[in-house]
Amino acid sequence: MTDLSYLKADFPILDNGVHFLDSGASSQKPIPVLEAMDRFARTSYANVHRGAYKLSVASTEAYEAARRRVADFIGATDEREVIFTRGATTSLNTVAFGWGLENLTEGDRILATEMEHHANLVPWQMVAKRTGATLDHVPITDDGRLDMAVLESKLGPDVKVVTVTGMSNVLGTIPDVPRIAELAHRHGARMVVDAAQLVPHTSVDVNQLGADFVAFSSHKMLGPTGIGVLWGRMDALEETEPFEGGGEMISDVTLHDATWADIPHRFEAGTPPIIEAVGLHAAIDYLDSIGMDKIFEHDQELTAIALERLVDVPGIAIQGPTDMKDRGGVVSMTMEGVHAHDLATILDEQNVAVRAGHHCAKPLMRSLGVTATARASFYVYNEEADIDALVSGLRRAGEIFGVN
Ligand code: PMP
Repeated sequence: MTDLSYLKADFPILDNGVHFLDSGASSQKPIPVLEAMDRFARTSYANVHRGAYKLSVASTEAYEAARRRVADFIGATDEREVIFTRGATTSLNTVAFGWGLENLTEGDRILATEMEHHANLVPWQMVAKRTGATLDHVPITDDGRLDMAVLESKLGPDVKVVTVTGMSNVLGTIPDVPRIAELAHRHGARMVVDAAQLVPHTSVDVNQLGADFVAFSSHKMLGPTGIGVLWGRMDALEETEPFEGGGEMISDVTLHDATWADIPHRFEAGTPPIIEAVGLHAAIDYLDSIGMDKIFEHDQELTAIALERLVDVPGIAIQGPTDMKDRGGVVSMTMEGVHAHDLATILDEQNVAVRAGHHCAKPLMRSLGVTATARASFYVYNEEADIDALVSGLRRAGEIFGVN
């Protein structure tokens, strides 16, 4: 078992003994991230790209250093391909509205999947309505994998964009994105990856993924809320119009018209998340100091243990792939006859924090035939004791509700 228990001291919020199994929703922040933001705010903060004074120069340098750090972390060859947004949701909206409104028209198809988070579905629905394009989807197999045969059959010259989650926030499924990207490109479609659950957990190289756009959030990878990333291949960004207008994104403005600043600044209207960028930089340093491969291994080991032990809990059904090669560290479950919210409440009484609900993936819930699941998700600070607590909490819930 990969031992990361030495990290726990960096997460003071866990000191009260909470078994925090909801990193899929948002991760906790280690002391080095909190300290980096605090230090920056105390010593170097000012608005960026504006003043000629020293503080503003220092702040701009820190903000741009964060951009370079992100580029390096995801293997981007050009730091200008890294755009700071408010989060994965804004990143995906930037693609849907910024790229989609420009490049989609009546008769075009957008191909998504049945397991997308609403953040990678609703913007495309909105853009489909405005452009006359249609939104199609690839279903999942009975064991929660993406149905690649259907995906291949749905590709055609009218498909202009394929958009896929890098890892399902409900099922843990990790689709074969490089393969999907290859197929999408063969048909001349752009490839979008919602990597909100992928980038925090495994080493991601955007070029190896083969995508044109990749979206993720800082708050799920030990960084602060309020900042996310849209990586776009330069030629794809050149096809994209700014989704928001305002200060800092222009080259010139007259009363009736404006021209855009260079990429990436044209996509960063207004005052950006500056302190948050410093926090994200520190979070990446922290993740890298552990090693992304080790983090993946650790999360996989915990997930395998959880899957093995949960099948013995009376009434529990697991949603999603059982084969570890197809999945990551998110485990969704239902208990026969017990609502997921009741399950989460009883677990909370045992100090086990899990998420219950539809996880912003209602179409997937419908396809699974459930209204809600309880979801345990693992990250660097989790250990086997958290699974012990989860399993015993679930057994307790089963006793209370007479499940056997
Ligand atoms: N996609 C997936 C797969 C997610 O899990 C989430 C967060 N739950 C998002 C997108 C949206 O991320 P955010 O709320 O940080 O914008």
